[in-house]
Amino acid sequence: MDFLQTFGRQPEGIWAAPGRLNIIGEFTDYNDGLVLPMAIDAVTTASVARRDDDVIRISSLAAPATATPVVASRICDLTPGGVASWSSYAFGVVWAMNEAGLVVGGVDVLIESNVPIGAGLSSSAALECALGLALRDLFASPLSPRELARLCQRAENAYVGVPSGIMDQTASLCCIEGHAIEFDTRSGEIEQVDFDLSTAGLELLVIDTQVRHQLATSAYGDRRSACEFAAKAIGVKALRDATLSDLEKVPDDVVRRRARHVITENERVVEVAALLRSKHYVEVGPILSAAHQSLKEDFEVSCAELDLAVDIAISAGAFGARMVGGGFGGCVIALIRSEDQRTIERSVTAAFASRGFTPPRIFGALPAAGARRIA
Ligand code: ADP
Ligand code: MG
Repeated sequence: MDFLQTFGRQPEGIWAAPGRLNIIGEFTDYNDGLVLPMAIDAVTTASVARRDDDVIRISSLAAPATATPVVASRICDLTPGGVASWSSYAFGVVWAMNEAGLVVGGVDVLIESNVPIGAGLSSSAALECALGLALRDLFASPLSPRELARLCQRAENAYVGVPSGIMDQTASLCCIEGHAIEFDTRSGEIEQVDFDLSTAGLELLVIDTQVRHQLATSAYGDRRSACEFAAKAIGVKALRDATLSDLEKVPDDVVRRRARHVITENERVVEVAALLRSKHYVEVGPILSAAHQSLKEDFEVSCAELDLAVDIAISAGAFGARMVGGGFGGCVIALIRSEDQRTIERSVTAAFASRGFTPPRIFGALPAAGARRIA
């Protein structure tokens, strides 16, 4: 179904927003810490045409087959806190813009995407940002990418009800091709860091285990509380401000390990950003592997499929690898020589088959462009 078939007319334009891959800095965002994401070339597009009324009609080719093909609501009827569904991510953006006092009118919207959903590559922010950008352009709202990122985050937090940080939307909207962004989630400061992997003959291999565990949602809240508890025990505002020697002030062994992950992970972001600046890309590999060890042993958010993908990728030639995203499934990223892609892919696929795991989906990623109008 294209826009014409769905809505009986042509769209006024098409806007694209990429998924993102966080090179390093996992679970640091809600601890006021640093992250280092880059955009990937998988995008979500929003084809949009304005209407004469205040009705929002949206359709997504990736919506569950059981869902209504076109979901509609009047803008004045949008209220947060309802039962969240895929359409809440789109309605939330309209609601957040409207609530911020921006004039937004009715639109027909068709969403298409090749960003893997629920895999830790941020399909949710890609959807929000593609639509957000379209609404900003069509209704001439004077919003900077950073302000738009905050509105899209508000859509996800307040309308959908997911307490996620600001990294995903910022990466999708602010990244530029051939760069990663070093993003300080406390100050909001963004620095574009040159990351010319392809000239170096390198790429990041994304191994989507296809595992999606519900556990990720409850564990997210649980880990978040542990971090807050640790910060309180240490006497700092957030774990961003703590050092390893502070850990002795944390009474509980499990909480101490959770905090240790955040503290060491924040240091890893600083190290990796420095390596990128000096173009020592290959040396990033072992730091990714150390991050995986920390996510597995200290933060305890890995699973058998993620561990296998990391181990096999490394033994087949990757410089290093780690799980990304919320955990218990989703993707692994491995830093590899582009020429080794086939070999590593084959090894990982074979290892998954021999363990009886679902075949992984594997693709190479390079730092790609951020959100933009494409038609
Ligand atoms: P991630 O952002 O890592 O992919 P999330 O759980 O944050 O995972 O967001 C996934 C949810 O976002 C999906 O379950 C769905 O509700 C919504 N979503 C994302 N992309 C699309 C799309 N193209 N069409 C419909 N819904 C989508
Ligand atoms: Mg998301």
